Amino acid sequence: MNSKALHQITYGLYLVCSVKDGANNGQVANAAIQVSNNPVTFAVSINKENLTHEFIQSSGFVTVSVLEQETPLTLIGTFGFRSGRDTDKFAEVSHQLTQEGVPYVTEHVLSYLAGKVVGEMDAGNHTVFVFEVDEAEVLAQGTPMTYAYYHQVKRGTTPRTAPVAPQEKEVTKERSDSMDKYVCTICGYVYDPEEGDPDSDVAPGTPFEKLPDDWICPICAAGKDAFEKE
Ligand code: FE
Repeated sequence: MNSKALHQITYGLYLVCSVKDGANNGQVANAAIQVSNNPVTFAVSINKENLTHEFIQSSGFVTVSVLEQETPLTLIGTFGFRSGRDTDKFAEVSHQLTQEGVPYVTEHVLSYLAGKVVGEMDAGNHTVFVFEVDEAEVLAQGTPMTYAYYHQVKRGTTPRTAPVAPQEKEVTKERSDSMDKYVCTICGYVYDPEEGDPDSDVAPGTPFEKLPDDWICPICAAGKDAFEKE
């Protein structure tokens, strides 16, 4: 099998949320698609290790928020690289509840869908949850984030619990030695001085050594000391 064949598949980027015993949790997901229009039915694929998986199985409710193209890496990091087991992902994130009390994120979100799970299929280390959409609304106008844009333009990374393998990044061969890239040992994010970190107001051309001491990884919030020269 040539796994590169899978790199031609296109995806969006979504926040999938659920609830259990009054607690909210959610995560980033790229495997989410409409699978029927009568009734309107959606499917999401969730890693069995993730807390969101446990919440969806427990409550039977799920929401999907569609992220806009310029969603900051910090929001994606909160939902993609931290576990709801040790942090409340909703503490500082704008969100609302559906009529059934299920959370959905509203910041940097173009629209959301919500519904009740009507079926699930075991799929290796993931479960595919199928749900009928009974609530949906447009929250903002804009361009939705795609998985490719997240990797190629935003230079985001992928946790090992994602359903698809991380895509290979294009490597720029011409760069000066004084502008070394540094990689986050926690999440794999690469700080490239040529690009800086626009989401944190770090200008392009800023060497890693010149980043402020309180600068943190835009994806997983690790400190500078978690970074190693690539
Ligand atoms: Fe990180």
